[in-house]
Amino acid sequence: MEKSFYHLMRVPSNPLVLIGPTILLIFALSFLLAWWRERKQRYPLFFAVSCLLFCLGTSSQLFAVPPGYGPNAVVSAFLYTLSVLVLSDGLLRRSGKQLPLLGYLAGLVCVVVSIAYFYYIDRQLLVRIYILNFGLGLVLTGIAWKLRHLRLGRASERFLFWILLAFAVHFFPRTILTVGSNAPAAQGFGFSPFWLTLQFSLAILGVALALALLAVTIGDTIEVLRWERATDPLTGLLNRRGFDERVISHLQTPDMGPVSLVVADIDHFKNINDAFGHQVGDNVLSGFGRLLLETLGQAGVCGRLGGEEFVVLMPNCGGSVAYAFAERLRHEMRDNSFDGLPAAQRVTVSLGVAEARSRESVAELIARADAALYAAKRAGRDCVKYSN
Ligand code: GH3
Ligand code: MG
Ligand code: MG
Repeated sequence: MEKSFYHLMRVPSNPLVLIGPTILLIFALSFLLAWWRERKQRYPLFFAVSCLLFCLGTSSQLFAVPPGYGPNAVVSAFLYTLSVLVLSDGLLRRSGKQLPLLGYLAGLVCVVVSIAYFYYIDRQLLVRIYILNFGLGLVLTGIAWKLRHLRLGRASERFLFWILLAFAVHFFPRTILTVGSNAPAAQGFGFSPFWLTLQFSLAILGVALALALLAVTIGDTIEVLRWERATDPLTGLLNRRGFDERVISHLQTPDMGPVSLVVADIDHFKNINDAFGHQVGDNVLSGFGRLLLETLGQAGVCGRLGGEEFVVLMPNCGGSVAYAFAERLRHEMRDNSFDGLPAAQRVTVSLGVAEARSRESVAELIARADAALYAAKRAGRDCVKYSN
């Protein structure tokens, strides 16, 4: 009885119907490329597989593979459902969560078994339409709810959230409005309002969703590059470029209170390199970076300006508080032991502290703190000097 549908849908004679699967393939390839370039993140791979599965689902209907209405209905429902579940998993993974195996199994079993039941046991096209559309709509609405924090994120994340929500929710009114309580007539199913609206809304919203996913994926890659550009890989602290950018944005904050700067330089660091090797020198640098972060807490921003010289900007912090911090850091350093060094070996640090004067430039402030640091070196090292 649904024969005419498959006659209509088996339409390689109308090349226009191949546009959908082709677009899906292009998106699948784009996500695959995005994943291939930066393989640290696996979620673009999930988006690629999801597009590919949806493309296979569409193709299975278009080319009637597998042949026979029942097997085709079950296989295409399986592919569509798996596609939506893999998409959901990818979206969750991007936010540090994931879809458990049980979620996959429950989704697939519910949809596919019901589709098979309402074909082989109680043949009802209307129920099958509702199960597939409402099933996919429910899964995606649940994911949009779980990822609702995206609506407060950056522009591409907000765009993704609203498109995802629209895509998820549209399954409900579209199905009700175009199908209602009467199954489309098998005769001319391919021209029924249900099928035509389905194709149209899937094409428009589906492409918008895929574009939003691509925009977020590219945005994430840019964020990683920006982070790498501003970060020192050895210590994880800001590098000079990152520190300068952060200092400028901090100093532009209106109604800033006092601002202080601390510079620190490890004493006789060259001797550590020479005596124990470069790798041990690196351990001392990363260990000092950790110590700096722990001692500073939320009180400021710190960076490694190169070699064994570190700098800390302390907003809303007067010179005496910054001096006390520098003394605490100096003591922590003396008490610390480092991988690769004998337990009794002490590593010390010299520090210079300066509080910003009104209308003083960042360069002038750093120069004064540096002068205090060199005064500390001249005074015998392992001490803090304050720039008056
Ligand atoms: P001072 O007490 O006067 O500061 O003496 P110092 O030996 O610490 O200073 P100096 O500037 O003479 O030597 C710094 C050394 O730091 C020289 C350089 O080879 C080493 N260095 C710079 N960058 C790195 C790095 O990334 N890893 C390691 N292991 N060593 C580095
Ligand atoms: Mg040094
Ligand atoms: Mg130095």
